[in-house]
Amino acid sequence: METRVGAAAATPLRGRRLGLTATPAGPALGTLRRAVLGVGRTGLRPFPWRATRDPWRVLVSEVMLQQTQAPRVVGPFTRFVDAFPTPGACAGAGPAPVLRAWAGLGYNRRARQLHEAARAVVDDHGGDVPADRLALEALPGVGPYTSRAVLVFAFERHEAVVDVNVARVLSRAVAGAPLGAGPAQALADTLVPRGRSWEWNQALIEIGALTCTARAPACRRCPLARSCTWRRAGDASADPAVVPARQGRFAGSDRQGRGRLVAALRAGPVAPGRLAGACGWPEDPARARRVADALVAEGLARRRPSGALTLP
Ligand code: SF4
Repeated sequence: METRVGAAAATPLRGRRLGLTATPAGPALGTLRRAVLGVGRTGLRPFPWRATRDPWRVLVSEVMLQQTQAPRVVGPFTRFVDAFPTPGACAGAGPAPVLRAWAGLGYNRRARQLHEAARAVVDDHGGDVPADRLALEALPGVGPYTSRAVLVFAFERHEAVVDVNVARVLSRAVAGAPLGAGPAQALADTLVPRGRSWEWNQALIEIGALTCTARAPACRRCPLARSCTWRRAGDASADPAVVPARQGRFAGSDRQGRGRLVAALRAGPVAPGRLAGACGWPEDPARARRVADALVAEGLARRRPSGALTLP
């Protein structure tokens, strides 16, 4: 894969200081915005959640995209919104159909929270996903990032969404220095062009996912290369982006066993004698029992009087 290359001639970024961060202004800001918006116009992958402004569909997609790569979300997203096209349809279903529709995504706790969020939307907002930050953040499973994302991608509000990918792009392309969560959000807030928040945010997410990647940024084909602060600083300068630690191994983890067990429950009840095999640990029934107990405690499974486990 192509990696970062040496400095290129470009208009320097100039502007006022925002904490430790130089904020581009004037021609430099114009260059940056044109480059980013160019990606927003023509360079976005055609995901189904980018073809809608329906707030429920956007909320579903944002919950699914937490901790899951976008291409893996396409199939489950399509199945889920076909099964539950509105918050009311989701709220009216039992937990088991919602968990079945979540198949293929993992982190099943998110399905339970989305189901609870749908119920709150029906109970507290007449079935319409609210267009208000505080009301959104009061929904189960919705934090500051997801609430901003819904405001931008459904209601086209003037907001900046900053996930780890966007923070990396801003650290390298604009600040040329490491950015914590607060400064990254503050910088992002100053950059969003009026009336173009949807394209702007989608484009930064796309650049972070496809071009300005954590370990091998593809600077030679990057649309921001002309103005990128880190690229202009040359090869000797340290990468300002914080490269995330690699996730712990999935194979052999409790998370893998949980996922297997929920997959088995989607097919039908699991008797106590099948529990360890369903988790993939036939030699370790105590571990399987512990994982099963956790699923019951979290409301992701139910134990019948017979001891068999089922979806809730
Ligand atoms: S923004 Fe573009 S030019 Fe700058 S480091 Fe990232 S990939 Fe390279």
